[in-house]
Amino acid sequence: MRYVIAGNSVATVAAIEAIRKRDDKGEIVVISPEPRTAYCRPLITYHLAGQVSSDRLSYKQESFYEARGVRVLYNKALEGLEPEKGRVVLTGGEKLEYDRLLLAIGATPFIPPIEGVKGPGVHPFTSIDHMEAVEAHLKDWKEVVVVGAGMIGMKTAEALHMRGVKVTIVELLEKILPIVLDDASSAWAQEALEKAGVDYVLGDSVVAVERDGRGDVKGVTLKSGAFIPCQGVIVAVGVRPNVAPLEGSGIDINKGVLVDDRMETNLENVFAAGDVVEAYDLILGAKRPIQLWPLAYRQGLIAGANMAGGKKRYVGGFPINSVGFFDFKVASAGLSTVEPGVEESFEVKVFEDKERGIYRKVVVGNNRLMGFIILNDICRAGVYSGLIWSRMDVSLFKDALVEDMSMPEACRLSAHGLEPWSFESMRDFRRMGWSLFPRSYRKHFTAMPSRIEEVCAFESEVCTI
Ligand SMILES: Cc1cc2nc3c(=O)[nH]c(=O)nc-3n(C[C@H](O)[C@H](O)[C@H](O)COP(=O)(O)OP(=O)(O)OC[C@H]3O[C@@H](n4cnc5c(N)ncnc54)[C@H](O)[C@@H]3O)c2cc1C
Repeated sequence: MRYVIAGNSVATVAAIEAIRKRDDKGEIVVISPEPRTAYCRPLITYHLAGQVSSDRLSYKQESFYEARGVRVLYNKALEGLEPEKGRVVLTGGEKLEYDRLLLAIGATPFIPPIEGVKGPGVHPFTSIDHMEAVEAHLKDWKEVVVVGAGMIGMKTAEALHMRGVKVTIVELLEKILPIVLDDASSAWAQEALEKAGVDYVLGDSVVAVERDGRGDVKGVTLKSGAFIPCQGVIVAVGVRPNVAPLEGSGIDINKGVLVDDRMETNLENVFAAGDVVEAYDLILGAKRPIQLWPLAYRQGLIAGANMAGGKKRYVGGFPINSVGFFDFKVASAGLSTVEPGVEESFEVKVFEDKERGIYRKVVVGNNRLMGFIILNDICRAGVYSGLIWSRMDVSLFKDALVEDMSMPEACRLSAHGLEPWSFESMRDFRRMGWSLFPRSYRKHFTAMPSRIEEVCAFESEVCTI
């Protein structure tokens, strides 16, 4: 049996682990256009900022592949798929046959058709290659424009700021982190930027990258007509599933590769996992790309297990983010942007204490938690995520969800009219916290890391299948 895996990141690592649990003899071949072992993509902005050393970027060393008998074809990419012949086409036209194929080729940054965008000094920021290219410019860059105020844009802006570069963020929508923050919490993020001395422009877009006679960047022009001088531009307006190499193969693609709950595509023996797929969103009840590390890991595990004869099912996922920048920490998940009083089908509860820096918001629909935002004191993120996962009926304690008391206190107080219990140690807190949830759901608490530092430590022991 030959397992071919295109891509060499987290979904691939998980698939290798799952295959080897069931099949210790089959041949595993990994196709890796990047000349390095799997690394922690979420950490590249931390590395640029000087907060994470090169050795911590690596997610798996050569020994991981060697110990599992995996052959990695470095500097080779999947360029085509011939399912009727059961083979893939690689860089240079080489063909490789498979018995089972996993497509784990991730997503590619979207570069909008801005005048002058092609050329030196303009970079996306999603890989080590991008990071090294930006690093090489830093001695010449005094001013940089970051296009897009999403997670990657904000983390890159923070890293550049920490390296002494003057940063201006330009965002098309009227909010910082527009996909995850509501108006109130976005205003908090703006304050954090102002405090840090970082400029931002909202509700405007870059229409041209202006270059001097030598082709070097000298600034950007905005739709409003404003000109911002800069020597470099980071384009961070989102990523798209990397489906280009699959075109014409007959594989079903919408925005991403469509998979069933076994992570199998419409093509026989062809599976897909990670940022390239459109898988089930538990909250929306529909398939869509959700590009997150823990979901890619879980999908890779399930795909790998099924490729090796297992019968594992992907129950779905939902967007969950935890990020900190410029002393501003946010955890959010699901339908977090629903504004209070705007949509009848949702109840929105907010607790805000500006002086203590606390903002908690939950969105409840049909008595189930559908989304949340927590600023700064984000330790409740795991419990909220657990409530979303479990689809637990929160009607008895929904009013207390955002209140300034511990979750077990809140649940027990409003559910039974009892005095809140005192939890003197973290151990008690955890024990009582767990006891609120059915045993079968507990693994989901640990399966969804809530802090960036935990994301890359996300391993099979907390997500065993
Ligand atoms: C800067 C940044 C910060 C992030 N922060 C977070 C975070 O805080 N939390 C979180 O959950 N997620 C975060 N993410 C998203 C997370 O990194 C991704 O969801 C995850 O890496 C997806 O894993 P994957 O296995 O699908 O593939 P990717 O990590 O996308 O890797 C794709 C792999 O496919 C390879 N490849 C590409 N084209 C081909 C081809 N034609 N043939 C063969 N191989 C190919 C690539 O070289 C690579 O090895 C962040 C991403 C970035 C870029």
